[in-house]
Amino acid sequence: MALHIATPLIESCSMSASTGRPTWLKLDAMQPSGSFKIRGIGYACEAYLAKGAKRFISSSGGNAGLAVAYAGRRLGVPVVVVVPETTTERAKTLLRLEKAEVIVHGASWQEANAFAQSLICESDAFLHPFDDPMIWQGHATLIDEIFRSGHKPDAVVLSVGGGGLMSGVIEGLHRNGGSTIPVIAAETTGAASFHAAIEAGRTVELEHITSIATSLGAKRVCEEAFRWSKKHPIRSVVVSDQSALTACERFLDDHRILVEPACGASLAVVYENAPELKAFSNVLVVVCGGATFTIDQIRQLERG
Ligand SMILES: *Cc1c(COP(=O)(O)O)cnc(C)c1O
Repeated sequence: MALHIATPLIESCSMSASTGRPTWLKLDAMQPSGSFKIRGIGYACEAYLAKGAKRFISSSGGNAGLAVAYAGRRLGVPVVVVVPETTTERAKTLLRLEKAEVIVHGASWQEANAFAQSLICESDAFLHPFDDPMIWQGHATLIDEIFRSGHKPDAVVLSVGGGGLMSGVIEGLHRNGGSTIPVIAAETTGAASFHAAIEAGRTVELEHITSIATSLGAKRVCEEAFRWSKKHPIRSVVVSDQSALTACERFLDDHRILVEPACGASLAVVYENAPELKAFSNVLVVVCGGATFTIDQIRQLERG
């Protein structure tokens, strides 16, 4: 039994009406850990457990850490999540609700991650949030479910942080005979590490992350995501933080589901009817979700 669930696939009548093209939603916001991340991380955790792992270690105070915590609780494996001092009380509370041991260490993610690495013993497994072939394999199940249902989109809109979701979705398209279906890769200004890689012709490290979409805040995308840009049709779109926030609010009104601005970036591509969508008549949006924002936070950030 996989740790993720098969999520609903529904048409968004409001998006279809406002864009003039049928638009479908893959609702991974409904995953038990609040985001798609449990697909890949759940798959990797099960594989590590089968190989004898006795403890899972993560350095993510976001949705990746929540997915590891959920997987560990379900599999009966202890989980340690090391997070920096900047981590919100809400994130720590959510991790503890999943029975993870939360260690607060260092002023930045780099310091927390270095400490997490130093804890790793022989029988531990470290779960990377996006750069691991097992993670991509697990994320690919999202596309398996869509093809199994008989639905065939002509474009897929998704958000890119470190590029794990995109690598998994494209792997899924290829293993289901959808290797020509374009992907529209949404990022926010200030977290656009995939866009920067496309511009530079190689992966590059952003100096600072300035976007409020914290779940997109990988300074460098994984090489796998960049490799796919050479072999698969991908269009990179960058939206503003404001657009992502407004999209979250509108989505809550339209579908009664609260998602993070990281997911709002993809929703904004559709709500703003971006020119990149023009050629398509059956769009699939990966509603990747995210559990770390409240509606109050989103409204406060929107006011600026
Ligand atoms: C992690 C995450 C992303 C980005 O996924 P990557 O695999 O890092 O590209 C987008 N949205 C949400 C809600 C996330 O948790």
